[in-house]
Amino acid sequence: MFVSSRVLEKEKDHIEGFAPEVAWVTRAGSSELDEPIAIRPTSETVMYPYYAKWIRSHRDLPLKLNQWNSVVRWEFKHPQPFLRTREFLWQEGHTAHLTEKEADEQVMYILELYRRVYEELLAVPVVPGTKTENEKFAGGKYTTSVEGYIPATGRGIQGATSHHLGENFSRMFQISVENPEGTDKPKVFANQTSWGISTRSIGVMVMIHSDNKGLVIPPKVSQFQVVIIPVGVTAKTSKADKENIYESCKSLEKQLKLAGIRTTSDYRDNYSPGWKFSNWELKGLPVRLELGPKDIANGSVLAVRRDNGAKVSIKLSEIETKLPELLDDIQKSLFLAAKKKFDTHRVIVEEWKDFVHVLNQKNVILAPWCGVPECEDNIKKESARKDDGEAFEVDEKAPSMGAKSLCTPFEQPKLKPGQKCVLCDKLAVNYTLFGRSY
Ligand code: AMP
Ligand code: ZN
Repeated sequence: MFVSSRVLEKEKDHIEGFAPEVAWVTRAGSSELDEPIAIRPTSETVMYPYYAKWIRSHRDLPLKLNQWNSVVRWEFKHPQPFLRTREFLWQEGHTAHLTEKEADEQVMYILELYRRVYEELLAVPVVPGTKTENEKFAGGKYTTSVEGYIPATGRGIQGATSHHLGENFSRMFQISVENPEGTDKPKVFANQTSWGISTRSIGVMVMIHSDNKGLVIPPKVSQFQVVIIPVGVTAKTSKADKENIYESCKSLEKQLKLAGIRTTSDYRDNYSPGWKFSNWELKGLPVRLELGPKDIANGSVLAVRRDNGAKVSIKLSEIETKLPELLDDIQKSLFLAAKKKFDTHRVIVEEWKDFVHVLNQKNVILAPWCGVPECEDNIKKESARKDDGEAFEVDEKAPSMGAKSLCTPFEQPKLKPGQKCVLCDKLAVNYTLFGRSY
């Protein structure tokens, strides 16, 4: 958790990038520390002195370690629950390799896992790509990321990152081995990678799927996929009939659990079924099963989807196949609905005159771009405007109204010959995704 200024400051670009957000401990009890100690904003500089000790020979490579921990970044912008917090929980992985190419492969392998976490588990579509020089990890060689989109605000959000650190840190921390390939270059520095995904992912999931009734949790990640609620019990219901309903619910619960479906139930007597329905909707459970005397007589159960409210009666004899199918369908439709929004709000803009207007329609923009860092600064400055050209009134701590680059997507539209940058007069080198972001 703590890191001395001596190691934190070893890699020059790294500390330059993180310095504004590092929190320092200056006092213990009532005594001032001789030297302030930093709280880690990320663990490269905490771990790599040990990597230097542990990596003695090329046979020690690759070294791949992952840890789950909290880090602290004293963000200037208003903290936003989950999306941007000063302390956040994440996993951070750190690897060291003999060759640059092996590190390249590691970076892409992890990025693909992150894409799958978002798309296949959280049902959140993302665009994988490379960060620009301005936006890459401080001290790294290059950064890849998966970028998401929040329809409610029209803002982009960085989902997770996977960095190639090259030899930048290994040279500073002396992480080197004898060259197994011969003697012209007796010592080689390790090529390193680092990568992380944080609790921000939960915030992105919540903002993308939820509605005015509360959370909508995709089935694959929902703690419970199904809640069973007994219905049709009134003041007139006999004790025996009531017991029969509850017993049926309990046996259904047992059957579903045995079938591997994450199931819970709500037998509270002091709440009406209607109250329970809203309560479980608020919590975002994918499916509610209502079981009452009529359903029991029919040998069926009523399933209600959280995502679209659709109701379908399922035969109890088929429940073990139909329910997983329903859950799959919910997972797919959540993803497709979110993907449609992202796809329709990712707009190609080639001329600056259209840029700000399109941005103001809650879009992110794919634009031909020159790749020059100053041009990116200018895009950010020039895009913080309303349609009439007026600057937005800005609260310094609110998320910026200027568009910054989100990533240069791996999947590229073809540049036309002689295609100019969207802002300046230089030739475009690629299409880059720009947007207001968190
Ligand atoms: P980085 O080390 O800057 O590449 O960040 C790794 C990942 O952590 C990012 O892709 C974000 O998803 C996440 N992250 C960065 N800053 C924050 C924050 N203040 N709160 C929550 N998650 C964050
Ligand atoms: Zn340009």
